[in-house]
Amino acid sequence: MTLARRAAHLQGLFDGMQLDETKKETKIISEIVDILAEVTEELQRLSDENATLKHIISHSEHDNVLDELEDVDIDDGADYQVICPTCGEIMYIDYATIELGSVNCKNCGELLEFDLSDLEEEDI
Ligand SMILES: [Zn+2]
Repeated sequence: MTLARRAAHLQGLFDGMQLDETKKETKIISEIVDILAEVTEELQRLSDENATLKHIISHSEHDNVLDELEDVDIDDGADYQVICPTCGEIMYIDYATIELGSVNCKNCGELLEFDLSDLEEEDI
């Protein structure tokens, strides 16, 4: 029997016993049954998510699997990797965009500003 079915079975047994709901013991057992049902649900969700991630990784033809997970398209003209300090989104932008002085995060919309004087010392 799967965990989900066992949790449902336990819930059924508990309901069937029709225990005195005013008793402390009944309240505790009821809480345990509820928690088990929630934990089971959460485990199922994580398990599904894990299966999806495994699927993506096993079918990935890219060297960097994270690129696919983040759904980042790397533009050939992109020169710089920028990480949004607000949400952690990784973006690849070209020098022309840097020259504009700022760009909005694709993910959260945060305005990211560039300091050209810093760049010129290091990378150009
Ligand atoms: Zn962001």
